[in-house]
Amino acid sequence: MLTEEILNIEKIRADFPILSRKVNGHPLIYFDNAATSQTPKQVVDAIVNYYEFHNSNVHRGVHQISQEATDMIENARDIIKEHFNAKKREEIIFTKGTTEGINLIANGFSAILQKGDEIIISALEHHSNIVPWQILCEKTGAKLKVIPITQEGKLDMAAFEKLFSNKTKLVFVAHVSNALGTINPVKEIIAKAHQHGAAVLLDGAQATPHMKVDLQQLDADFYVASAHKMYGPTGIGMLYGKEEWLNKLPPYQAGGEMIDQVTLEKSTYAPLPHKFEAGTPNICGAIAFGEAINYINNIGLDNIAAYEEELLKYATEKLQEIEGLKIYGTSANKAAVISFNIESLHPYDIGSIIDKLGIAVRTGHHCTQPIMDYYQIPGTVRASFAFYNTKKEIDNFVKAVKRAKTMLL
Ligand code: PMP
Repeated sequence: MLTEEILNIEKIRADFPILSRKVNGHPLIYFDNAATSQTPKQVVDAIVNYYEFHNSNVHRGVHQISQEATDMIENARDIIKEHFNAKKREEIIFTKGTTEGINLIANGFSAILQKGDEIIISALEHHSNIVPWQILCEKTGAKLKVIPITQEGKLDMAAFEKLFSNKTKLVFVAHVSNALGTINPVKEIIAKAHQHGAAVLLDGAQATPHMKVDLQQLDADFYVASAHKMYGPTGIGMLYGKEEWLNKLPPYQAGGEMIDQVTLEKSTYAPLPHKFEAGTPNICGAIAFGEAINYINNIGLDNIAAYEEELLKYATEKLQEIEGLKIYGTSANKAAVISFNIESLHPYDIGSIIDKLGIAVRTGHHCTQPIMDYYQIPGTVRASFAFYNTKKEIDNFVKAVKRAKTMLL
């Protein structure tokens, strides 16, 4: 068992000044990590250092500072490549985040898909993983098929196998569900899809903060993630694509940085990764993303996963003591996310009351309306934990939820 003392959570918490502030007169308890995680001082320092001493445009300048900025952003690419064990650094593309990565792939496939081709997604997806495929299908005449879910909030794998046909071109699933926390059996999904000749894109937005992801071992064709859920800044993320796939897809945006030769008649494109990085990139964001990954690796993702699992187990047991409380998403294989409702109480009302006590949780449909439709509920209260959270915070949270229940019922 990994206790708070062994991980030295108090020392870790000191890296996050926001955790010592008060909200509505109470010490902040931040349980909205699945939406955006907090940023440690080390990452903020990297941002300040960049703007104070190295701010310059990249890849073009002959001068010293431009070369420093270029080295720093390319070093961040290397950190990401190593962290996710991609085969080549050229396979890592900087994006604005998960949503942009998905749109980049959907745009690329619009040049590849034919009328009647099929894409499989799941009923567990975030809206940003549903809408781009609906638009792609409208554009190309391709068909969207959906893996159903079970009451526990798991993918129905027997139904999944039956969705394949010789027209299946792409399978797209979340590695971890943001609304329910379910960890999907992605290795099995990838193996099945490859047997049928389909490519696989995984949405790693909720997996990457909590577990080690080895892209070569997974054999995913594409993988996307956002830095702001990995203790980095907003507005930056990454897309991984196997080199052969990225070479096949057309550019997403056009402009500076992504070209090789331009004449007024015709242009040729830069090699990977710059083919997909038109315009001045989020240089500082990328550098800070690399620093966030260094920070996580200093604690160790295995330690993080083990400690968060302990928090999840503890919070689940404590919450279940509340009469009338129902947890949605009960897979044994789950990340540190708990979605729940209490009898007929509206999640928003519970969230608002506990906010007055300094507790930040998410309420609503969590951009997953199809999941809420499946359970026939308007939304849930979602508490999502990070390695800087503690059992004492969970105790206070449970106390606050009990108080909200008493006030509202
Ligand atoms: N997919 C999942 C599973 C998510 O949780 C989120 C963010 N809530 C997204 C995609 C979208 O991420 P971003 O807003 O960073 O692009």
